[in-house]
Amino acid sequence: MTRWTQFFIPTLKESPADAEIASHQLLLRAGLVRKLAGGLYTYLPLGLRSLRKITQICREEMDAAGAIELWLPHLHPADLWREGPRWPAVREVMYRADAAGEAGAKARGAQEPEFVLGPTHEEIITPLARAEITSYRDLPKNFYQIATKFRNEIRPRYGLMRAREFVMKDAYSFDADDEGATRSYLAMKQAYTRFFARCGLKTISVEADTGVMGGSFSDEFMVPAEVGDDDVFYSETGGYAANRQKATSALVPADLRDAPPEGALEEFPTPGVVTIAALAAAPYGVPATQQFKTLIYVGDGKPFAIVLRGGDELEEAKLGALGFGLWRPATAEEIRPVMGAGPGSLGVVRGTIAHPEQLAGVYADHAIRLIGNGVTGANRDGFHLRHVNVVRDLAVTQFGDFRSVRVGEPDPKSGQPLQLCRAIEVGHIFKLGTKYSEKFGATYTDAQKQTRMMVMGCYGIGISRTLQAVVEQGHDADGVIWPWTTAPFQVLVTLLDPAVPAALERALELAAAAETAGADVLVDDRDERPGVKFKDADLIGVPLRITVGGRGLKEGIIEMKWRAEKTVARVPLAEAADRVRAAVAGARAAAPR
Ligand code: ATP
Ligand code: MG
Repeated sequence: MTRWTQFFIPTLKESPADAEIASHQLLLRAGLVRKLAGGLYTYLPLGLRSLRKITQICREEMDAAGAIELWLPHLHPADLWREGPRWPAVREVMYRADAAGEAGAKARGAQEPEFVLGPTHEEIITPLARAEITSYRDLPKNFYQIATKFRNEIRPRYGLMRAREFVMKDAYSFDADDEGATRSYLAMKQAYTRFFARCGLKTISVEADTGVMGGSFSDEFMVPAEVGDDDVFYSETGGYAANRQKATSALVPADLRDAPPEGALEEFPTPGVVTIAALAAAPYGVPATQQFKTLIYVGDGKPFAIVLRGGDELEEAKLGALGFGLWRPATAEEIRPVMGAGPGSLGVVRGTIAHPEQLAGVYADHAIRLIGNGVTGANRDGFHLRHVNVVRDLAVTQFGDFRSVRVGEPDPKSGQPLQLCRAIEVGHIFKLGTKYSEKFGATYTDAQKQTRMMVMGCYGIGISRTLQAVVEQGHDADGVIWPWTTAPFQVLVTLLDPAVPAALERALELAAAAETAGADVLVDDRDERPGVKFKDADLIGVPLRITVGGRGLKEGIIEMKWRAEKTVARVPLAEAADRVRAAVAGARAAAPR
């Protein structure tokens, strides 16, 4: 058992001005963390206890799923990252360091510093697997670690939610073939579900975009919360959930027949009209849903066109499906020489593009098929074309899903209307395929002595973010309401009269009873007023509070109260130890495991 006076719980009455969300305020007020600088936090003793519990639950679930713990360096040779597939995409996110400073790197004639601080570890683990795993007999393997990651987040915020230095569990699986990789992925998905449930967190798993990780499929584990950074589209009864980057809808019916042409192409003057809204307004009156919107992007240095319905928005992440490593909107200066006009007058009607051969492709969203015949830019400033037929006129290389879905559209699984909620991403799993194995030559020899690529998966859990998500999901106006499993202490014995020897003796006796029954116990033996002690008890949110005071002892009772409940039970002294033991046993039995 731990005595408050011999521990360190610096609680705060007021929440610091820069803490915007409840969980961030409570982490500070309950004495769990302190800020060093933007995105950098010290775990105070109480916070560290919860972090350790979450870490331990994670370790148990990873071990149970057959993953093997190791420890990789945090400081990585920059060259390894440069060899890897995503250097251009993640370079800016990494803190870069050179032992001899910037001048040292220059003196060596190097473009880059010698080291980077690891934001994740695919580039480190894949070469390890290449070197150490040679035969199919060594497969499958899944390695994990629970350690610190560093990311130069542009906007660190919300305390541990988006930090520059944070704790992550990262795992990497290596399999002999695709089916094996799918098995490893599903085992991790199950372990994640168990892990979050054991932490007392309600999560939903959603289909996610594979982003710069590449790879074939991925799920995110989300905690629904107003303060989340992510958008999740879901259907209540349809069983569909996906993050915004990935979400699709059944807006375009699978059996849609393309509309035949309605007349000959016709150019008409639209002086000064460069927006969807202006073309929708008088005197033109072309509804946004009848306009083609043409955007030019640059993918790995080459321009390409995207065509959407006028009223739709591009979901940039979906461009990842086109196979580019890096993409961005083209500038007006880049657009004109290729298209022959500026933004707002663009289109992809055959024969109107100045230099179609310079486009890496013309990618059209499926939803433009709903337009059938519509209006688009003529690639001549101040002119548009009408009677543009999707099939007859547009130079589309490939149709795909590129638009953002909207609330109310039918979900792709069951046709139920999509709903939207905000959520916190606490975990992310990817089936990677052979992207990293190919880059790093991670091969093995199969039973027929053939050389084959290892098939990989990677799996992350934001351990420190999970800590804060637990607080975000479990709190009230007075403080934290910890789940039993992740609480820094599970039983708090609030001693109201530490100077009364009989009270102290009783308090320690009940603390010992709780401890023997398997609880982590804190005894508030401070010489403070009861009001202060009760406020702190609610603030730090220990699940079960036992109050022992001089007056109660005279009446022959102690009090028991669950943090999550309102009622206070008055327990006769003679039954107290048994009741405490029973309460602890009950809580332990009820905790998910
Ligand atoms: P996000 O979309 O929130 O930036 P991410 O997709 O970049 O996260 P991953 O690379 O998938 O994150 O990392 C695995 C897990 O690490 C995430 O699911 C999240 O819980 C956690 N995580 C990522 N970035 C941070 C951060 N800056 N601070 C705290 N936890 C983080
Ligand atoms: Mg992610």
